Amino acid sequence: MEKEFERTKRVKFREIDALSKKYLSDNEDEVRTSNQRMIVTVTSIYFLVIIIYNIIVPIFFSDWGVAYIYQIALVVHLAVATFVFLRYRKTPRSLKEVQAVCVALQLYVMTFLGIVSVLPLEMDQPAVYFAPMVMGFIVIFMYTFKTALILCLFESVAIIVISFVFKSMEVCNVNMFCALLTFFVALYVMYVVYSNKINESRHRKKLRKMGQTDKLTGIYNRAATEMMSHEYMHTNSDKSFGLMIIDIDEFKSVNDTYGHQTGDMVIASVAKIIETAAGPDNIAGRMGGDEFMIFMKGWKTQDDMKKIAAEILRNAQKIEMPDDRVSISCSIGVCALKDDEWMEYDELFSCADKALYYIKEHGKNCYAFYAKDATGSN
Ligand code: GH3
Ligand code: MG
Repeated sequence: MEKEFERTKRVKFREIDALSKKYLSDNEDEVRTSNQRMIVTVTSIYFLVIIIYNIIVPIFFSDWGVAYIYQIALVVHLAVATFVFLRYRKTPRSLKEVQAVCVALQLYVMTFLGIVSVLPLEMDQPAVYFAPMVMGFIVIFMYTFKTALILCLFESVAIIVISFVFKSMEVCNVNMFCALLTFFVALYVMYVVYSNKINESRHRKKLRKMGQTDKLTGIYNRAATEMMSHEYMHTNSDKSFGLMIIDIDEFKSVNDTYGHQTGDMVIASVAKIIETAAGPDNIAGRMGGDEFMIFMKGWKTQDDMKKIAAEILRNAQKIEMPDDRVSISCSIGVCALKDDEWMEYDELFSCADKALYYIKEHGKNCYAFYAKDATGSN
């Protein structure tokens, strides 16, 4: 597992597109939040640069003069920035809307860049070169890596072609250099961001899984089992829950006879048996030591639960040991609630535990159902 993670940490260039596709579909919420944050950031930067341009150029490059197009743009940018700030600063919007605004913003920047590349012809000023870069940033999270790459390439080529047609050779060279430079910077940033994001979400998933599962057996740990059972009890309308506690009989003698390592193997085998018997619809977890639990999400007849319990008892006895000195068996306590009954999780657990205690006192290797008046074995 660790090895596999180490291997996948180094995302290869050719793998990144497939991974980015998966990342986009796996992390819709995250993508939306990043996009929304980026719309605000990009708009702020863009607006700031336009203002600075309108201030710096007249002061330091008075022979250039600020083209009227920048002054008109200043007003338009101010309107766009205000709109974006008011709408996207805090309240989360839908992914579709955020993506649509990203596209609109990109087209807007592209159009502006096109216009300033053509106008004003008489002044022959270089265009706003940071724009392709901005576009690169905008496309980072909303498209797959390949699409983002093609778009950035297309935009940079468009800038070069427009400059070539409408500008002097001198300005065209500057434009070409800037467009290529920003394209490669955007490409590098996209690559870094995508690979980091992908690895980060993998790492988070791994950590989340590690926090929920028991290290030795791989099934849910106590905290996860209790949390999930509790949540299910309080959110589901079907109230016919069942809780089964399973404890290995005379487990100490397994450790004493064969050592801790064999003991661990037995615990792992019993966990596998319990997980299989519980099936995908129920929650199977290890409570600690040699004790396990199954939370049954819904049951129709007691026979369903008896079948599960019997299967566990039967298969536990089949666990192969190095010799005949010790054989494996389990004891099981069950508490099952019908639709018209209700108990909190703790009480449910304690009732199943009472049934288990009853079996431990009455010969082990069997299961018992908790009954309110008397605990009787089946
Ligand atoms: P009973 O039939 O009454 O359940 O008897 P028991 O010997 O199984 O008693 P109990 O359930 O109290 O014993 C659990 C033992 O499990 C005690 C502890 O040494 C051992 N144990 C707890 N965790 C582990 C583990 O992770 N690995 C191994 N090998 N042993 C463990
Ligand atoms: Mg035990």
